[in-house]
Amino acid sequence: MTETLRLILRSAERPGGLPTFTADDTRPWSSGARDALIDQGILLEIGHTDFVYCDGCIDQHPLEVEIREYPTGMLGVAMCPECGRVNIPLERLRQWQLAPIGLAQSVMAAIGSSGPLDEITTNRIWSLGTIPSDDTPRDIFIARGLDWPDAREIVRQAEPLRRSPAPLVLSYATLPNPGIWSGFRPATDVLASICSLDDGVFTANLSDSLNRTTLPHSDAGEGSWITVTQAAKKLMKVVDDLDLKRARARVSGAANNGKFKTNDEKGTAREIHLDSFSTWLFEQQEINLNKPAW
Ligand SMILES: [Zn+2]
Repeated sequence: MTETLRLILRSAERPGGLPTFTADDTRPWSSGARDALIDQGILLEIGHTDFVYCDGCIDQHPLEVEIREYPTGMLGVAMCPECGRVNIPLERLRQWQLAPIGLAQSVMAAIGSSGPLDEITTNRIWSLGTIPSDDTPRDIFIARGLDWPDAREIVRQAEPLRRSPAPLVLSYATLPNPGIWSGFRPATDVLASICSLDDGVFTANLSDSLNRTTLPHSDAGEGSWITVTQAAKKLMKVVDDLDLKRARARVSGAANNGKFKTNDEKGTAREIHLDSFSTWLFEQQEINLNKPAW
């Protein structure tokens, strides 16, 4: 079962969407592995596949399957250039997809984290909460695709990761390129190495990774920072008749004029220190309330 779990994690590490497995794909898996993964919530059944390889001829032609309803029930029907019409039982057309949330919940249960579980970047980075460790508590993250070309940008946008004083990042199957961390260095490990599934019991061994040192980002433990858009939305709540575009422009203008503390970045990389922004926001509210009401 552990081998099947690792196969799924490796498949999910290839660039693209979440991996899916048809009934034919799962047939070589060890006995009970598919059911155990479904029970664990790691695999989730999705709609029937419309593609199989013919099992009636040596060439195993690829077949496009149509599901038809007969008085006797539903049946897949396809045309093979050698075999002619082929009937395919629905059971063979079932398929399952990796469920990252189910995987994250399994890891949380195995390492004793009470969460909360938070998907930071869709299908890429999850926060699993904090667990105690000998020296300092560790914030546990799961990440997928940290060796993909966009990994550096995905990490840069993952604010909870940058804010963590001691992050441990568990990638699916491949250790990330150290170049993706800018300004910090989380401890890392690989789920495909530390997780196992035996007799339906999921375990994750963090004994090595919890001993690895982390170098936190300078953003960690320095109070709250917000994006220009978050700041603009706050401004819209206190100033009448502002749309998001104009609110963003006003925030950016004030930032350029040094009205509050920022990270000295421009554009989407700009971040604003919440405390100093709140002071300016209060002033804007006062101005708005004191303007003549016509
Ligand atoms: Zn055939």
